[in-house]
Parts: sequence; structure tokens; C-alpha cells
Amino acid sequence: MAALTGRRPLIAGNWKMNLDHLQSIAFVQKLAWTLRDAAFDRAGVEVAVFPPFTDLRSVQTLVSSDDLPIAFGGQDLSAHDSGAYTGEVSGAFLAALGCRYVLIGHSERRQYHGETDALIAEKVAAAHRHGVVPIICVGETAEDLEQHGPSHVPAAQLRVALEGAAAGSEVVVAYEPVWAIGSGTAATSAQAQQVCAALREVIAEVLGADAAATTRILYGGSVKAANIAGFMAEADVDGALVGGASLQLDEFASIARFPSHVGTV
Ligand code: PEP
Repeated sequence: MAALTGRRPLIAGNWKMNLDHLQSIAFVQKLAWTLRDAAFDRAGVEVAVFPPFTDLRSVQTLVSSDDLPIAFGGQDLSAHDSGAYTGEVSGAFLAALGCRYVLIGHSERRQYHGETDALIAEKVAAAHRHGVVPIICVGETAEDLEQHGPSHVPAAQLRVALEGAAAGSEVVVAYEPVWAIGSGTAATSAQAQQVCAALREVIAEVLGADAAATTRILYGGSVKAANIAGFMAEADVDGALVGGASLQLDEFASIARFPSHVGTV
């Protein structure tokens, strides 16, 4: 359980291509009110949202003017810092907007945009060049699982991605089995624990024991209020990357308040 490890749990909402900038303002404002009314433990749990790029300035303005307990980040970034890369977004721009995090290597980027492990490592390096914390997404397909077992593919993906990490810079890892994303069928908490423990070993091998002890590893894939407490009870699960349920205000707020419903799963 993260509370015993000193790793502050992170509940991250990946909005994907949903909510325009006006909708993002309304959503973040209501999320903040809901958390406040529910006496959300700001120090105990970190909440972050990942809106589309076009929303980031609006979210930044709202969060900073009202000092809301909500971090935010981009859903992707360019491996390059500037130049003739039409349509790409530099880590420098994310940093300038106050993004604390950036998602890298989400399975939808790998699947629909052909992102390779090598490119993902370059993006990790780009994030670190600009002081943005990469949330490195890894996970196996159903076929991978059948062929190689649970940890083989995510561990191999992470090993390559971490080649881009700058010494001493923070990373977050998100284990997201592709077969669980958007399917309504989450991994069991025991399955998540098994892979997250293997990923922590990879971090120890590549970045050292201290990094392994402090790095947060999230589980993602059909997380909801009804199953979050089970994941968070596992030793190597330090939070969740939430897709569909992050767009449902009350559901996401309830996930963020998981310490208050431990024992309800
Ligand atoms: C995701 O896409 O990162 C994700 C975890 O989606 P969902 O929660 O909808 O499965």
C-alpha cells in the first residue's frame, strides 16, 4: 500500500480527445468543488488531469488563480524541442504552461501513431530536458499475454523507455494492459501487483534501488470507484491512470477519495 511506502498516490485522469476548453473549465471547477465538499485530503493524494492541448491554457489559468488541488499535463509531447515539426508540441511549451506531467507512450499512441519504444525513450528525454515528469505507459495486448505471460512485454517496453531518463529525474510508470483499457474488464488487483512489482525491478536494474523505492507505478485499465481500493491495497500500486471514468465527475472524485472507501471492494 502506497501510504506505507511514502510514495504519494497519484490519481491521473486521461481525457483523451474529449472536452473542449470551455468544457474543461467547467469540469475542473466542478471537480475542485466536489473534492472540497468531500474534504479531499490534498496532501495525501495527488490528482492530475490530462486534457487536450487546446485546453491546457484554460486549465492552467483556473488552477493557478484559484490554487486548486489539481495538477495537469499533456497527453503527449514531441521528441524535438523546436523547429519544422508541423503539428507537434514541444516539452518547452508544456513546461511554460505549468504542466507537471506528460503522458508518454499511451497504447493509443503506440497503436494509431506507430510510436516505437525508441521514440518513447526520446520523448522521455525531451520531457526531462524541460523539467516535465514523464508518465511512461507500458502494457501488453491480449496476444502478448497469451504468448509471453504477464510481465514480459511491459518490462521490455519500460527497459527501453528508461534509456531516455535523465539521471536523478523523476519518472512515473503506468502499467496499462491494452486488453483492459476501455473494455470494462480491469485486471485483478493481484495481476496488477504482479506486473507492477516486475516493473519496479526493472526500475531498480536501470535507475537503481533508490529510484525503484520512490518511483510511483500506476495501474490503468477500466479503473472505477468500485475497484480502486483493491488496486491501492497492493504493495507496488501507487495510483491509477483513469480513462473513461475520469470524464464522469462524481466517479473520478470518488476514485480520488479512495482512502475513504477502503474495505468497500
Ligand atoms: C486509458 O486509456 O489510459 C485508460 C486507462 O482507459 P479506461 O480507464 O477507460 O480503461
